[in-house]
Amino acid sequence: MSRGNSETMIKDTIKKLYEDDTFLSELKEEERKRSFRSFSEILTTPNKILKAYLRIPMDNGEIKRVEAYRVQHNNLLGPYKGGIRFNPNVNEEEVINLATLMTLKNSLHNLPLGGGKGGVAIDPYQLSNREKHLISSKYVKYFADILGPDIDIPAPDMGTGEKEMDWMMATYKTIHPKEEYAGSFTGKSVDNNGIKGRREATGKGVFFTFKWLMKDLLEKSNVKNEKTKLIESVSKKENIEVAIQGFGNVGSVTALESYLCKDLNIKVVAVSDRNVTLYNKDGLDVEKLVKYASKHIDLPSNEELLKKAEVEAEVLDRTDILTMNVDVLFLAALENQIREDNMKDIQANIIVEGANGPITKEADKYLKENNVIIIPDILANAGGVIVSFFEWKQSKEVEFYDIELVYEMLYKQMERTFEEVMVAYLENDYSLRENAYITSVKRLANRVYRHGKLF
Ligand code: NAD
Repeated sequence: MSRGNSETMIKDTIKKLYEDDTFLSELKEEERKRSFRSFSEILTTPNKILKAYLRIPMDNGEIKRVEAYRVQHNNLLGPYKGGIRFNPNVNEEEVINLATLMTLKNSLHNLPLGGGKGGVAIDPYQLSNREKHLISSKYVKYFADILGPDIDIPAPDMGTGEKEMDWMMATYKTIHPKEEYAGSFTGKSVDNNGIKGRREATGKGVFFTFKWLMKDLLEKSNVKNEKTKLIESVSKKENIEVAIQGFGNVGSVTALESYLCKDLNIKVVAVSDRNVTLYNKDGLDVEKLVKYASKHIDLPSNEELLKKAEVEAEVLDRTDILTMNVDVLFLAALENQIREDNMKDIQANIIVEGANGPITKEADKYLKENNVIIIPDILANAGGVIVSFFEWKQSKEVEFYDIELVYEMLYKQMERTFEEVMVAYLENDYSLRENAYITSVKRLANRVYRHGKLF
């Protein structure tokens, strides 16, 4: 993922805000021009980029050098917050872009948090538990000075989960023995100061934004135009056929929510992971697939394994899922999946971004021109950071929330943002992504201005 994606989007958004002379209208002419230029500099520059080489004694006796990053993009709204991913493709540009998206996401959803992100360039599928433990612990040792409950609070992302967060918090506690430590990491296990529902939160939020688009929005809004016509044509179908790319933390929960949803006529016809796409035109048994993947990590990838999982499906290539003839495509694997080379083959009318940055800017422009509705990452996949925020609050209040309350608070917060963006979207010519950026950047610009930083 190139850093250009979020940077270009931010610059375009600031231009739109500049042209809207009702925004920050107290600033006049030259002063306003200068202020917007300054704001662009602030928002497109990360505050800090930290890189370390972790030296890890591997199980085979060799020492391996592993690149690790923490990028603190912006803390205008509160402490830096964002996940740590373990993936072989991690690099500086990617982590900067992901940290920038976190600043935008947290602002969009009105969280008192800034944006940060971390990454380790390693393939977690090739590591033993001991090796993963060492990497998690070394990561915290190397970045200990810049982390902390009121400074920078990491969480899980691709290739990491509650186990890694538990190990990281334990290391943090050893390094800072006299300090409060429960709020130093979120996404921990419930037995270790975690919060109920964090693991499911992102996938649930992704599915709910889609459900609100299909159902509640049309019930609540009086607007009738091409956009509502398209939404209505999908929502009224006898079978809304959906495909979900990625079957990890986010994708498997999104798939299960789609499968279990009683309010819409959804049929999950395809799911995929790093190895295969599974397809069944009559619908897949997602419950059985979730049960299988929770034991074996990956989806069943051949006839024998499908039998073992008691699932009927055709086994296809992992990329086949992207261009299938379905109504809705959930992207919940990784970035840059829809690009110039495959954008013209996309058949879905609605795409929901569970992953961060799964569509390149060229493809985003093309799909917008072809009236595909895209619920963007910063709007759809914020469930994780919102529940992480509740976990962080819980650690400060020393009080534990029950799961019903967690979901109630999550849906309330996400639906509020969704409606705010949707009202604008139905009435202007911008895409949902452009509207989400406008809402988010406006909040940040206002804050910078109130802090007296724009001259
Ligand atoms: P995960 O590691 O749990 O799952 C990733 C899934 O993608 C797995 O099923 C894997 O097999 C699949 N995959 C990997 N490489 C692939 C490839 N080349 N083609 C197709 N599939 C592939 O990760 P996750 O936590 O579910 O995160 C998925 C995405 O969602 C990432 O972009 C992440 O940044 C984003 N996200 C995650 C969270 C969270 O709370 N975990 C929150 C917000 C956004």
